[in-house]
Amino acid sequence: MIYIKTDEEVEIQRQSSLLVGKTLAEVAKIIKPGIKTIELDKVAESYIRDNGAAPGFKGYGGFPATLCISVNDEVVHGIPGNRELIDGDIVSIDCGTYMNGFYGDSAYTFAVGEVEDEVLLLLERTKESLYLGIEQAIVGKRIGDIGYAVQKYVESFGYSVVRDLVGHGVGRNLHEKPEIPNHGRRGSGVKLKSGMCLAIEPMINLGVKDVLQDNDGWTIRTTDKKPSAHFEHNVVVRNGKADILSTFKYIEEVLKNK
Ligand code: MG
Ligand code: MG
Repeated sequence: MIYIKTDEEVEIQRQSSLLVGKTLAEVAKIIKPGIKTIELDKVAESYIRDNGAAPGFKGYGGFPATLCISVNDEVVHGIPGNRELIDGDIVSIDCGTYMNGFYGDSAYTFAVGEVEDEVLLLLERTKESLYLGIEQAIVGKRIGDIGYAVQKYVESFGYSVVRDLVGHGVGRNLHEKPEIPNHGRRGSGVKLKSGMCLAIEPMINLGVKDVLQDNDGWTIRTTDKKPSAHFEHNVVVRNGKADILSTFKYIEEVLKNK
């Protein structure tokens, strides 16, 4: 079943989703060549706890950390550790929070130092595809309209859409129905209703769409070793225009002043 959230529930969820954006801004302040990914994770966990919430991913299905940190050809679900980021890396950082009974779940892909233009474009266009998907998250549209919008845009640049992982409903559970693929047919799938809370999260590859899982049981990476980008927002379906609960505002203020 797909939950329809009351306005009151949506406001509680908004607080959780906003906290993710603020946490990612703390990460943005310190991300640079030479930093270990585990150091980013520690900062995020402390910040979340200091703000009266719990990390949403830690312990979820056995995941050991606060952040999913996925570098270059890693698509999602990378485990923080002693890897040092280097100049030219791109890093998807996915963060979850749990506060007052609701989850926030949002992701941003960062450029570390000087990144190749071709890869910077992948980041920019993946983020744009997220907003094109969000434009479809309105009453009267269907799930397939979201995926269609994302896919049409990114494939026009020769990129490919990861099929094995999808967006999802979000609320009292981190992953709720419906699934939200980043590819699809217009007018297909579940009809969207006001009050549905969705995590929309395009995962877009510079090369082929195929991915595989590492032996660590978590990390998903591209089979051709080419880079992949990932951006995620939480939104509520409304009439005419979706309400975006999470935000990149704090992250981008930090990045602008770096
Ligand atoms: Mg996420
Ligand atoms: Mg998600």
